[in-house]
Amino acid sequence: MTEFSLIDKTLDRDLRLLADFIDIYCSHKHADVPRAPVDIKTHDVTALVGKEVCLCDECKKLLTHAFVKRSTCPFNPKPACKHCTEHCYHPTYREQIKEVMKYSGKKLVLSGRIDYLFKLLF
Ligand SMILES: [Zn+2]
Repeated sequence: MTEFSLIDKTLDRDLRLLADFIDIYCSHKHADVPRAPVDIKTHDVTALVGKEVCLCDECKKLLTHAFVKRSTCPFNPKPACKHCTEHCYHPTYREQIKEVMKYSGKKLVLSGRIDYLFKLLF
């Protein structure tokens, strides 16, 4: 296994988790807001996650920001964001993603669909 495929795997896993978390949050919190399949320029979200992700405008912006930031993270291995010295997220999105992680993390823990990866990511 080359070093590159290892990096890519971690990145893909993190992006999939991010999409999952934002998806859960949006479908619960913004059920009454119009939502559309996410189609962003930088990533093929559907292929990455393995299904179509439908989000509202606000959450789509957050996902785009999160994907770009995660993909351009200069650290390898990437530290948990709360232990990072850079805090690369825009403050607005940082608050939003924290909220998303807290909400969806709880849901996933309760449904038994989560493991330690969540703690590593944020
Ligand atoms: Zn939303």
